[in-house]
Amino acid sequence: MDARVLSVASSHIGRVRSSNQDSGYAGTHLFLVADGMGGHAGGDVASSLATQTITALADERFESIEVAQEQLLSGVTNSAAELIEAVREHPDLGGMGTTVSALLRHNNQVVIAHIGDSRIYRFRKGVLTQVTTDHTFVQKLVETGRITPEEAMVHPRRNVLMRVLGDVAGSVEIDTAILDTEPGDRWLLCSDGLCGFVPEHLVAEVMADVPDAAKAAKKLIDLALYRGAPDNVTVVIAGVNETEMSAASKPVLVGAAAQPLMFDAITKSLPAVTSHSFFSPRSRAHEETFETADYLDTLIAEDKKRAAKRRIRWTVYLSGTLTVLIFAGIYGYVWTQSQYYVGSDADSVVVYRGVNADFGSIPLHTIVRDTGIPLNTLSQFVRTSVERTIPVLSLKQAELVVERIGNGSQSQ
Ligand code: CA
Repeated sequence: MDARVLSVASSHIGRVRSSNQDSGYAGTHLFLVADGMGGHAGGDVASSLATQTITALADERFESIEVAQEQLLSGVTNSAAELIEAVREHPDLGGMGTTVSALLRHNNQVVIAHIGDSRIYRFRKGVLTQVTTDHTFVQKLVETGRITPEEAMVHPRRNVLMRVLGDVAGSVEIDTAILDTEPGDRWLLCSDGLCGFVPEHLVAEVMADVPDAAKAAKKLIDLALYRGAPDNVTVVIAGVNETEMSAASKPVLVGAAAQPLMFDAITKSLPAVTSHSFFSPRSRAHEETFETADYLDTLIAEDKKRAAKRRIRWTVYLSGTLTVLIFAGIYGYVWTQSQYYVGSDADSVVVYRGVNADFGSIPLHTIVRDTGIPLNTLSQFVRTSVERTIPVLSLKQAELVVERIGNGSQSQ
């Protein structure tokens, strides 16, 4: 019997937010993360309502993985209908929405359902693989090769969602897939409060080093807190032991879904927001209500402007650096040309201006005077010194050194 906790859900409000709008669930067969958005209370309600609807419908053992998939998807679409109904009854909740990333196990397979920018990762044999695709504006930019995944992590528009479950008319487009799972696999579900702030290699390190799911979840949340945790952080881990994926020791709800639903507590001062498909959870203060196409155009235009600014900054930076290098080069060369040394050419003592070195193929010295004193008339000691070169402070001192060498050579 394995005493380790293999499956767990954990959520933290983060260091900046005043409420936790994330919900998490680790159950018997079902694991889920939902990240709500929409005003003061809407986000809590959206993620909580979605989580409760889906867990009530789908945390069961179904007869096949196909049936499990059907039930999970119907749980998600049902929760979308619940959200729309809630907004109809409480217009103050207009504009609320939530991401959903859910995983339902069946024997040695799992089915996933996903919408938004929460993530599901599979950790297998030391390798962390994201199995969901973010439904974000920046992900579109990455897919079309306009920015790199690294640039996406710090892009000012990284929170803009292209798809979300919520108060949006029309059919809901949910990603789904059936994947195999093996003994030793660990499945990680997280809100962007974790995956948007803790780099994947650090997440992978924790998954590799901490086999107990409860401790690993705590470590991951601590990492997010250490990095400032500006957003709510939710982590759900589902481990697979020698035989099958482990249920949580008892089903656990965390975050907003762990609180009772309190429609009455919703502030009446919330503005009614027109329905639109784009949510920017971290910029609710200036709610954006562009028409869909206009909004995308605006974002793309902003992106182009930013790229142009970046190019100008680089041009200024590069030309500045180049100027400094040119001046440093000129100054360096002028300095070398104020130096002198006594040395030798093929067979005689020579006074040089400059330093005994080359810059690439350019010599940094010129002959000032060939003294005509033959090297072979010098004592071994003096000859070696001359061949190694004798640095002097001025041309006058060079002449004095040459005079001494000349006297020595005559007296031989
Ligand atoms: Ca979030």
